[in-house]
Amino acid sequence: PLTTGIVGLPNVGKSTLFNAITRAGAESANYPFCTIDPNVGVVDVPDERLQRIAEIVNPQRIIPTSFQFTDIAGLVKGASKGEGLGNQFLSHIREVDAIIHVVRCFEDDNITHVAGKVDPVSDIETINLELVMADLESVERRMDRVARAKKSGDKEAIQEHAVLEKLKKALAEGIPARQAGLDEEERERVKSLNLLTLKKVLYAANVGEEDVAQPDENPSVQQVKEFAAKEGAEVVTISAQLEAEIVELEGEERQQFLEDLGLESSGLDRLVAAAYRLLGLITYFTAGEKEVRAWTIRKGTKAPQAAGVIHSDFERGFIRAEVVAYEDLLQAGSMAQAREKGLLRSEGKEYVVNDGDIVHFRFNV
Ligand code: GDP
Repeated sequence: PLTTGIVGLPNVGKSTLFNAITRAGAESANYPFCTIDPNVGVVDVPDERLQRIAEIVNPQRIIPTSFQFTDIAGLVKGASKGEGLGNQFLSHIREVDAIIHVVRCFEDDNITHVAGKVDPVSDIETINLELVMADLESVERRMDRVARAKKSGDKEAIQEHAVLEKLKKALAEGIPARQAGLDEEERERVKSLNLLTLKKVLYAANVGEEDVAQPDENPSVQQVKEFAAKEGAEVVTISAQLEAEIVELEGEERQQFLEDLGLESSGLDRLVAAAYRLLGLITYFTAGEKEVRAWTIRKGTKAPQAAGVIHSDFERGFIRAEVVAYEDLLQAGSMAQAREKGLLRSEGKEYVVNDGDIVHFRFNV
C-alpha cells in the first residue's frame, strides 16, 4: 500500500501525532503489517458513504479502507552529511510515496525549540535544505556515472544528463526538485534516483489547543500557509495533543467534543483526506450481505487492477465488472431497483473505476 512519511524537526509534535494515529488505528486490528513495523501506523479512512450504502444493503459488517503513515523521527540539521544517523533517516524517506511535514506553530516555554524560537518558515527551510542537499549529492553522483556514456554519444545518456543538469542547477540554489520545472517525461528519466524533494508534500501546522477553532489567527499558521501557497502545497492545521484526546472518544461523545471545540471533523480525519488527495487516491466499494467494504485505488485504475486490490485471483481471472455509481444506487434505493432502471452497468477490462463506484467483479478461478 501507499504510505506517507511524517517528517519535521525534533520537538514539533511528530511523536504525539503518530501516537494518536496508532491509537486511532488500533481499533481496526485487521492490518497485520502494522504490528511488524513499529514506525508504521494504520488508520481507517473516514467515509460517510459507507454508512449510506450499508443502510441500503444491510450487511453484517462494514469495513472501511485504511491509510498508512510512517514515522520518520530524527531528521535533524546535518542529516545530509550523515549527522545524527542522517543517512538512515533519509533512506526511510526514500521509501515513502509522499511527505507530511509537521511544523511547530504552538507556543510553550516548557518545550524547547531546537532553533530557540518558534519560526515555522525557517523550520521548514531547515528540513527542506537537508533533503535538497541529499538530492544534490544523488544527482551529482548520477551525473558522474552517465558522463562516459554521454561522451560516447549515447542518446539516452545525453537526455538524462540534460535533466540532471536542470536539477543540479535548481538544487544548488536550494530549490526542491518538485519545483525545478520538470515535465512528465523528464521526471520519468530520473525516477530511479527516487529523489526526496521530488515527492509530494503537505504541511501539518501543529497548533495549540487554544488555536484549533480559529487557526488562521495564529500568525505562525499564516506564515506556513503563505510558504505552502508558493509551491502549491496544502496545509492542514491540527493540534497533535488534542488529537490524542479525540481518538479516545467514540460516536456521540466524540461529536460533542468536536462541537465544543468548534470543529466539524478531527484533524486526523482532515489529514487523512488531504493525504489521500495528495497521493491521487480514490475509493470504490464492494457491497454484499456479508459486508460493505471500501477499497483504495489510484485515480485512473482500470477494473482488473482495481479487482487486484481485493485479491490477485480477481485480477488474473477478471471477466467483467458490474458497476453502479454511488449516487445512482442512492437514488434507486436498492440494488434490484438499480438493475431494473438500467443503472447497473456491465464493464470490461478497459473500464476506469470512478470514485464511489460500487462494484461486483465476475472472474474465473
Ligand atoms: P517530536 O520530537 O516532533 O516527535 O515531538 P513530540 O511529539 O515528542 O512533542 C514534543 C513536546 O511537545 C512533547 O512534550 C509534547 O507533549 C509537546 N506538544 C506536542 N504538541 C503540542 C501542542 O499542540 N501544544 C503544546 N503545548 N505542546 C505540544
